[in-house]
Amino acid sequence: MSAGTSAGVPAVVDRAREGDGLGERTLALMRDLFPLCRSLTGDGVRETLRILRRDLPLEIHEVPTGTPVFDWTVPEEWNIRAAHITGPDGRRIVDLRDSPLHVVSYSEPVDARMSLKELLPHLHSLPDEPDLIPYRTSYWARTWGFCLAHRTLRQLTDGEYRVVIDSTLRPGHLTYGELELPGERDEEILITTYVCHPSLANDNVSGIAMAAMLARELSGRRLRRRHRFLFAPATIGPLTWLAASRDRWATIHSGFTVACIGDDGPLTYKRTRDGNAELDLAAEVALRDAGIAHRLVDFEPWGGDERQFSSPGFGLRFGALSRTAHAAYPGNHTSADDLPRIRPDALQASLHACLGLVDALEGNGTWRNLSPFGEPQLGRRGLYDSAGGKVGRGDERALLWVLNQSDGTRSLLEIARRSQLPFATVQRAAQRLRDAELLAELA
Ligand code: ZN
Repeated sequence: MSAGTSAGVPAVVDRAREGDGLGERTLALMRDLFPLCRSLTGDGVRETLRILRRDLPLEIHEVPTGTPVFDWTVPEEWNIRAAHITGPDGRRIVDLRDSPLHVVSYSEPVDARMSLKELLPHLHSLPDEPDLIPYRTSYWARTWGFCLAHRTLRQLTDGEYRVVIDSTLRPGHLTYGELELPGERDEEILITTYVCHPSLANDNVSGIAMAAMLARELSGRRLRRRHRFLFAPATIGPLTWLAASRDRWATIHSGFTVACIGDDGPLTYKRTRDGNAELDLAAEVALRDAGIAHRLVDFEPWGGDERQFSSPGFGLRFGALSRTAHAAYPGNHTSADDLPRIRPDALQASLHACLGLVDALEGNGTWRNLSPFGEPQLGRRGLYDSAGGKVGRGDERALLWVLNQSDGTRSLLEIARRSQLPFATVQRAAQRLRDAELLAELA
């Protein structure tokens, strides 16, 4: 017997437990995306979006270098073909071909011979984690550098080193992808993730794949609100989109980022700036109903792109969905953030939680009891069937909760929270009461 027939457990858990293959499919997409040398701009981002376009009709935007974006400017475009260091004995010490992490992102080109003393300031390692390669960027300061395991660095001896970074840093474009799923209302939910990190599995190949899978699952569905997906480099990406979409700000109902969502830590929802948005309630109820370990944390202007959308000038309600947040993930921003640490069942549960959140927002509404003078006779209308069968106790209680609370001031999500009943049960009760002409939704 599936757990979904009892009052306390929602259908979403059933789907996740049955194993619908969505976790494996998300992981397969991650494997395709993982090796690419992504950065703030350049062909790594384009190739990432091209892979996503196999399944999603993403619109690709190219914004020229030098475009002003609020207090920022779209930077020069960076591309890289090769990067390596050869030691005095002719041996390759590091090579970009082994991992995109080996080169500091946005390194300017170099082709030189130098002593170890001259080379060392350009080498980055982690003395406390001698086997791991760190991830480093230098987007806004011109320099070059390599990242390598400290164990390798320690073995370097005096002598002449050949250093090659075959990169280009010149006027080009910032690239981002956008997908719009139409809805019935002129109101939208914005779901974003960042595409600027190279071969790091949880941060953020998991977020890219998760947002893409969520978009896939929602494609073709009849949606009340428009759902827009944005795949853009961190910080400058959302700001570039926001600058180009001023006419859309007013129609954004709310939005959330999806990132770092493939590990096995508890699902974590970070509330919007004011913490009292419909999105916040939807996340609280959806994560509760998902029946898995989760945390709700308050907003702070630190973390991912939610802090850009939550800036006072935009006035947007923006949350963030992750598992173990960014900086708290062991091995974050190192080669330890590798694919073998990602489990398909964690991905599957994350995807179902994302779907549950969207369902909660889509299904919410405020209703009015059309027969508010005492309880209407449910049995006479075929709504009350304590003999069991199709209707369980949870369904009957949900009918009474919805009738009692629907005075036009409380939403279905509020009723689901207060009654401790799954949102799907409360929603189903409202639909049945509507069909019996006992309830009407407020416009
Ligand atoms: Zn990161």
